[in-house]
Amino acid sequence: MNIRTPVHFVEQFSSNKIYMKRDDLLPFSFGGNKARKAELFFREVQKETADVVVTYGSSSSNHCRITANKATEIGCDCIIITPDEKGNTFNRDLTTLMNAKFIECSVEEVSSTIEKTLSELKAEGRTPYFIPGGGHGKCGTEAYCNAYEEILTFEKETGTPFDYIFLASGTGTTQAGLIVGKFKNHTKTKIVGISIAREKVRGSKVIRDSIRDYLGPDVLFDSNEVIFIDDYLSGGYGKGNDQIEQTIISMLLKHGIPLDHIYTGKAYCGMQQYILSEGITGSNILFIHTGGTPIFFDNIDKLSDRRKDEYTNFKRRISK
Ligand SMILES: *Cc1c(COP(=O)(O)O)cnc(C)c1O
Repeated sequence: MNIRTPVHFVEQFSSNKIYMKRDDLLPFSFGGNKARKAELFFREVQKETADVVVTYGSSSSNHCRITANKATEIGCDCIIITPDEKGNTFNRDLTTLMNAKFIECSVEEVSSTIEKTLSELKAEGRTPYFIPGGGHGKCGTEAYCNAYEEILTFEKETGTPFDYIFLASGTGTTQAGLIVGKFKNHTKTKIVGISIAREKVRGSKVIRDSIRDYLGPDVLFDSNEVIFIDDYLSGGYGKGNDQIEQTIISMLLKHGIPLDHIYTGKAYCGMQQYILSEGITGSNILFIHTGGTPIFFDNIDKLSDRRKDEYTNFKRRISK
């Protein structure tokens, strides 16, 4: 793509300056970190002249949407292994619209289903390419190592060194890539992943493994660089709370920025709490908007119901 996403000032928070890098505005299929990762994965797909891409993800997966759309772009088939779950989402509808075929299975059967699907395709004479769920893997790591270079360019051009980078961390691949970028450039920026699902022990181990996998076993890096915070899980993947919803509404109304309840809204809210609890002040802070715009719309009824309640209360007050 070779397009640098915008970085802009958002707000002053507890005497820190908060900036945002808008990867949600990447110009492919509603953007997001999965668009950045897919760019590199699909280079491999084309190098290997694969004719079908297989991946894994849930119904709210941004990764599945992007993968399906990348496949249609190059005229390749796309098969998505997915847990059998109910409920429609905009990502699932979009992924269906983008011609993906779904194979449902239980969570326990995921890896066996993937293997079975790949071997069946090969037996049919097809050339499948497998992309791990969430765009996990070296291409994903590299994509965010490259994004780190963009951040450095912004820092140099504007004279704004970032003390902290915050982001929503899921598989941790995005965070691993940023840490690799930091490692290569010897900067002091602290990279803080706000976990949206995983607990600290597993989440940080996967990040360390991704970094090692990318740098190779001989390169020494300090594992203390991996800051993975699981204090704001709010009960697990996709689970929200009042404060997260307040944050989403406030960011939209004050700054015109859509955040979603699974990833960016949860992480932005967690970042604010972390800043307060750690007593961080006087710092330049960059939040990476990792996308997920269709998920914003999944939750819009709930958000607007809240506003309706507030409006009813307002009318009650003024009619007194
Ligand atoms: C997938 C996703 C993440 C998490 O990215 P990882 O690299 O898996 O940690 C964060 N935000 C959004 C919007 C995502 O779709």
